Amino acid sequence: MGSDLHRPLERWLWLAAYVVLLLCPLALLLAVPPRGADRLTLFGIAIGFVTLSTIVLQFLTPSRAPQFTSSFGIGPLLRLHRLMGYGVLVLLAIHIVVFVVHDPDQFIPWLLPIHGPLKAQAGWVAAVALIVIAASSTWRRRLRLSYEHWRLVHILLGIALVVGGTTHALLVSWYSAIDALRGYIVVGMAVGLVALLYLRIGRPFSALGQPYVLIGVQPERGDAVTLRLEAHGHAGVPFLPGQFAWLRLNGRAFALTEHPFSYASSSSDPARPSFTVKQLGDFTSRAHQLQPGSMVFLDGPHGAYEPVLPDSGFVLVVGGIGITPAMSIMRTCADLQDPRPVQLIYGARTWEDITFREEIESLRERMSLEVVYVLSNPEPGWTGRTGFVNGDLLAQVLPADAVHRNFVVCGPPVMIDGVLKSLHELQIPPALVYADRFDSV
Ligand SMILES: Cc1cc2nc3c(=O)[nH]c(=O)nc-3n(C[C@H](O)[C@H](O)[C@H](O)COP(=O)(O)OP(=O)(O)OC[C@H]3O[C@@H](n4cnc5c(N)ncnc54)[C@H](O)[C@@H]3O)c2cc1C
Repeated sequence: MGSDLHRPLERWLWLAAYVVLLLCPLALLLAVPPRGADRLTLFGIAIGFVTLSTIVLQFLTPSRAPQFTSSFGIGPLLRLHRLMGYGVLVLLAIHIVVFVVHDPDQFIPWLLPIHGPLKAQAGWVAAVALIVIAASSTWRRRLRLSYEHWRLVHILLGIALVVGGTTHALLVSWYSAIDALRGYIVVGMAVGLVALLYLRIGRPFSALGQPYVLIGVQPERGDAVTLRLEAHGHAGVPFLPGQFAWLRLNGRAFALTEHPFSYASSSSDPARPSFTVKQLGDFTSRAHQLQPGSMVFLDGPHGAYEPVLPDSGFVLVVGGIGITPAMSIMRTCADLQDPRPVQLIYGARTWEDITFREEIESLRERMSLEVVYVLSNPEPGWTGRTGFVNGDLLAQVLPADAVHRNFVVCGPPVMIDGVLKSLHELQIPPALVYADRFDSV
């Protein structure tokens, strides 16, 4: 089972590489300053270059390259991608303002570049693409944009941003005259586009060589359905409990439509992975209609969870469909006859809603498992815990050796945030706590 905490050196090296790539055009500019540029112009140019570097890095962070994901996990990389997206917007605004303030007569017409030079038009394309990317990402739900349409818009505008930005940079004579900077622009943008091709073509292509067949579609309690897969012509791709994969269904390896789901099955049998899907929106509500026999392609495993204390047991705090990574941990422990103690604190609405209820009861006989159910809307006669999984409840039920256990928290975002705060108040070391967020990608 998989922590990013085990790879501090790798993480620091990648972070250092990130900063070097971000700032290396500045070093080039200082080494070979454009002739005739005053200080303000030089500042504007420098900001323009850092903007370009950031755009290139924006293509690398979500590329799912295992070198990055194994060090950081995909959630933190995508959070960096989102944050730096706003960074690009701010840098671009500074770049434009500097030039407009410096020479309004020349640069104000560039803001409406219908009759302006090509370099202005290219910059304008990049700026508009960036603004639409930021707006559609920030207000996707408010704009009623489905995830799939948003993703398509994101990719197409990303390409427009790269092409516009590169053309603009290459046509601006100050720095395009300097070979090193011209080389930097071309190589940088090529790297960005290669990263995009790797994500959209390279990864699906490699999944094509390791297909799975859907062998069962099984309804579960709590409006969920389990998709049982079997490796077809290979031994299965090994995964760790707590990891997830993007599923592409119905034999469409290159489909833009792909959804992330946590492995719910035991990692001891990678040839027969299963995923349990809660019926929520367009895609998940149709999961029960899938036909066994169809091909499924997995982009995974992803995620970088490893228990910090490999010899200690677990406390699994879950709500609703957040049970899936916990099931993988418990099923793996049971299959491997792992003696480490596991406590499951499972919040659900009603007794009937508890996904995997029967199996959890049978797991008690195969491993050292203590289960605490917490029902927010219990049926009459329920004598167990009621309400929500909060600080009071955790203080009452956590095992005596809690500060020496690995914690996994998974459930609705509000529950995760509340539980993390409570665990902090209960002096559980944050390094021991892993939050698996279903809204992380
Ligand atoms: C790491 C991870 C593990 C997950 N594991 C599970 C699991 O084991 N079981 C489970 O039931 N759910 C899991 N989810 C959530 C699941 O991916 C979404 O519920 C599902 O994609 C929703 O799709 P939809 O079209 O049915 O719903 P929609 O109503 O279209 O979407 C609901 C919300 O889900 C998110 N979403 C939709 N499509 C995608 C997509 N392609 N990629 C990422 N997010 C999307 C969006 O935020 C959207 O607003 C996981 C999510 C992540 C990030």
